[in-house]
Amino acid sequence: MSRKLDIILTSSSIRRFYDCRRRYYYEYVMRLTPRIKPAYFEWGSLVHRCFELLEKGFTLKDTLTTLLDENKSGNWSEDLKRRNHGWISILPKLVLGYQSVYGAQEKDEYETLQSEQEFNLLLDETPEYRAIFRGKRDALKRHKKTGEVVLWERKTASQTGDSYWENVAWDPQPKSYLLSMQLEQGIKPSCVVYDVIKKPLLKQKPGELDSIYNGRIALAYIEDKYFERKKIYFTPQVIEAHYRWLRRAAQELYYCYSEGQWNEYHLNQRWPCEYRVLCPSGGGEENEHSLSLFDNRRADEINPELSLFCDSNLVQVTFEGSEIK
Ligand code: SF4
Repeated sequence: MSRKLDIILTSSSIRRFYDCRRRYYYEYVMRLTPRIKPAYFEWGSLVHRCFELLEKGFTLKDTLTTLLDENKSGNWSEDLKRRNHGWISILPKLVLGYQSVYGAQEKDEYETLQSEQEFNLLLDETPEYRAIFRGKRDALKRHKKTGEVVLWERKTASQTGDSYWENVAWDPQPKSYLLSMQLEQGIKPSCVVYDVIKKPLLKQKPGELDSIYNGRIALAYIEDKYFERKKIYFTPQVIEAHYRWLRRAAQELYYCYSEGQWNEYHLNQRWPCEYRVLCPSGGGEENEHSLSLFDNRRADEINPELSLFCDSNLVQVTFEGSEIK
């Protein structure tokens, strides 16, 4: 008997799939990782990790030491290590700026109920496949006075603005996380708080040392304009529709896997596509040189958020009694 296909969805993989299926195929099926990753990912991960450690009760000093150790032992090039080292030097001022804007308010107003919670939500099970949505929620918090329970997501962005907030409303992530809380734990947070930390748009001057440049960025965090928070509300109807949408996405993915059809959709791109050197629509062609720009991860080494599906890790959800049919 053939084994069922486990289709694991994440917010990023769904976005990728609907941006361009061919791009999804390169990233999630062939598991090709560009050797040079865009810098904004690394900065975002660093800030996220920093606040994760602080939320766990690490002091700022211990947090920085841990980040430096992790960078030193990381499996990346010496150049990237040097750059990350410089970025870590920005964090003390960033944290100071953040705490001066929210510090007292946050401690007095909110208590953290859960933090860094990974989840595997069974979306659908058919004779052919099992569809699981996988994610990690940053935090669940309760407002001490009003009792309002909110999901908390920390983000980094270069800028925010109307289009940023419109995109959040369309983004599968906040809705999927609210849905997961509801189905998995029976908790219905009222909204998702987006806690955004922006990176100052300062350019490095010609001949300016990295340390001086990083120092200028760090100093900019004294201004509160780099910190922004918004509550995003979704109606129960929107969450219910989103649940159906996720199941449909899983069906479409199953179709692509089973038919081996990964159509190119070059127009629908937010960022320049890192796979264009391989793709006919991007002007490239797959050859030894173009492949050498990528690392080919082993089957057990797929994106960390998509690490091999493990039954014991799955939260079985019964939909009975849930408002969502
Ligand atoms: S180059 Fe364009 S069509 Fe090709 S994978 Fe990238 S986005 Fe898709």
